[in-house]
Amino acid sequence: MPIYEYEAASTGRRCKKCALTFEVIQRLSDPPLNSCPECSQGIRRKISRPRVILPGSARGTDEIEQKVAEYERQGMYSHAAELADKESEKPEKTHLKERAMEDYKKAGYDF
Ligand SMILES: [Zn+2]
Repeated sequence: MPIYEYEAASTGRRCKKCALTFEVIQRLSDPPLNSCPECSQGIRRKISRPRVILPGSARGTDEIEQKVAEYERQGMYSHAAELADKESEKPEKTHLKERAMEDYKKAGYDF
């Protein structure tokens, strides 16, 4: 579900919530809020693109792939290979197996 950022529409009275930009999780189909849920003062949605919350696992594995890419950039192919190899044991990450093999080769391992 997307997260939207809201801020007070005016600089008048503000409560603790709307004194700063705050985030609201809403369905795409939900109408935008126009008043603060705490103090009912007018608020407006910031134009920033909504962020979508990724499930914890997907987020975690993305981080692993980023780490693999970082090792590759630094020429640390054995590190990249080991990480990709370990990660590729997960059923949704089997595509990393090939990458691990390539990195192993680049690292000088012979298969
Ligand atoms: Zn408020």
